Amino acid sequence: MGENQDREILGFQTEVRQLLHLMIHSLYSNKEIFLRELISNASDAADRLRFEALASPELLQEDPDLKIRIEYDDTAKTVALIDNGIGMSRAELVENLGTIAKSGTADFLQQMTGDEQKDAQLIGQFGVGFYSAFIVADRVEVESRRAGLPADQGVRWESDGQGEFSIENADLPERGTRVTLHLKDAESEFSESLRLETLIHKYSDHIAFPVLLSKAGDTDTEPKTVNSATALWTRSRSEISADEYKEFYKYLTHDFADPLCWSHNRVEGKKEYTSLLYIPANAPFDLWNREIPRGLKLYVQRVFIMDEAEQFLPLYLRFVKGIVDSADLPLNISREMLQRDPELSAMRKALTRRVLDMLSKMATNDPEDYEKFWNEFGQVVKEGFVEDQKNCEKLARLLRFASTHTGTDKQDQSLVDYVGRAGADQDKIYYILAENFATANASPHLEQLRKKGIEVLLLYERIDPWMVGHLSDFEGKAFQDIGRGQLTLPDAEGEITQQAMNDEHKPLLKRIKQVLKDRVEAVNVSQRLVESPACVVAGEQDPGPQLRRMLEASGQKLPESKPILEINVSHPLVMRLSAETDSSKFDELSEIVLDHALLAEGAQLHNPADYVRRMNNFLLGLEPQESEASDHQAEDAGD
Ligand code: ADP
Repeated sequence: MGENQDREILGFQTEVRQLLHLMIHSLYSNKEIFLRELISNASDAADRLRFEALASPELLQEDPDLKIRIEYDDTAKTVALIDNGIGMSRAELVENLGTIAKSGTADFLQQMTGDEQKDAQLIGQFGVGFYSAFIVADRVEVESRRAGLPADQGVRWESDGQGEFSIENADLPERGTRVTLHLKDAESEFSESLRLETLIHKYSDHIAFPVLLSKAGDTDTEPKTVNSATALWTRSRSEISADEYKEFYKYLTHDFADPLCWSHNRVEGKKEYTSLLYIPANAPFDLWNREIPRGLKLYVQRVFIMDEAEQFLPLYLRFVKGIVDSADLPLNISREMLQRDPELSAMRKALTRRVLDMLSKMATNDPEDYEKFWNEFGQVVKEGFVEDQKNCEKLARLLRFASTHTGTDKQDQSLVDYVGRAGADQDKIYYILAENFATANASPHLEQLRKKGIEVLLLYERIDPWMVGHLSDFEGKAFQDIGRGQLTLPDAEGEITQQAMNDEHKPLLKRIKQVLKDRVEAVNVSQRLVESPACVVAGEQDPGPQLRRMLEASGQKLPESKPILEINVSHPLVMRLSAETDSSKFDELSEIVLDHALLAEGAQLHNPADYVRRMNNFLLGLEPQESEASDHQAEDAGD
């Protein structure tokens, strides 16, 4: 007969095996979502066929009414999802249901902890798709025939989800895909009519294709149409409930969590289009991979055209999900045409504004949600200052910072909050850049400002030095980096210039500069310090240590630059330095003061061993203390 000669047993890709295993364990309490995932796949398949049929109408002709059927058999305990969409060839089936195409999946799966709740969250963001069938089924059969291929080129795929699947050719009279789930004993509820009807209603009401429910083998009763089969975004806003919007989001993105907010708009006039944009609650695992395609799902006159149409929003809004349905774009539009279309830049501008407005509304009306948003996506929004200069004003209002006002690492202070507290006589917005929150919050640069009760924004994210380079002012107040150049404070008593202060301590400054001339640009008397003996600041034109590190990490070569050392002339250590008559001790102590200022910045010392040697000498040279132990040590050292 040779019927099975084409049968092959193949192994799942390692990532699929891991995913299957994790999913079955962690998603158990969300098991019913398999239905949403499979309906979503069926609807995508119908969308894709309709799209291909724009160029090849014959693909659709033999069976033009696109629909999704769900057939249950409560005796055999099976449920099948049948679509007459695009279908899959043998090669596509092996590829699509045996591997995971997303790059970075292996790394992503590594993050799984074994904690069911956390893993469920993570997998939810990843989108489980077809494989979720194995949460409720111990055997899944897929029969598929690619549109355009003859009946004898159908394929049958089967697996128990344990690591392998079989694939063989099959004669299939109908185009499209049938996925049959042989339910686990404990999950037989999913082969019951009533249970299914409720679920399908929930998961498919917003889908543009009819979903029909019928009992297997029952040819007498007409299948029941369970959904209203109108695409959600075509309905008017007032008719759509919050739950429906949320369900649609999950169907669209395969995300488990509800979105934080959405914005649904119809634009009429010269260009007509509808957009439905969502802000997710969680960042996807590959948010920082700037290479992978992302964007809105594009429809033209309700016909699906493409996924990930990235031309509608700037890259810094890559976390936004949703659809745009245009009435004017040609149905045969391609990515290349989109790039060139002059109409598109107006749409892009308007959609960008929509997103920014939606965020700003959330910030005002729902600060708690906004905080969640900021924690997930704040760093991406900051890219906007570089990418989208035109919207800087709007973006600035979306920023949230940690600040000395709260002194915690929670980024929950806005520029509006800051300016409101600053008072009219303060014409600057002060900020400090550091490697991390702790370094920023403990920086000696803050001492004088803290004492005077002047608030400083604490910036410590990688992108911050970049971002502040693009911030000029906010509500008339200029931004000032307190770790750079000369610091002018609002209530400076009289006009004491740096020059005048330096003149008072000229000999000391000169002596120190002489010792440290290779390491510092200048030595000044500080106006910033209260408790610390010294700090380093960057010159006005210097990129500063954070930006320098970032640029150098990206391979750029920058000219060497030296910091300015500032000393606190009323600090005992500096007074001691000033009184030091032994020149070698003076030199050593000067170096230590500079090293400490650098360490407090989170900087690395060029020669740590030198520092340790100097420091040990210095400690040994201290006056003997009253305790016996230190007497001993001092004596020993003296030998
Ligand atoms: P996703 O839908 O997120 O891409 P899935 O694991 O659900 O991931 O599906 C993998 C691929 O299998 C899909 O991208 C699609 O190409 C194909 N596929 C799944 N179900 C169907 C179907 N009913 N008809 C045609 N192709 C399908």
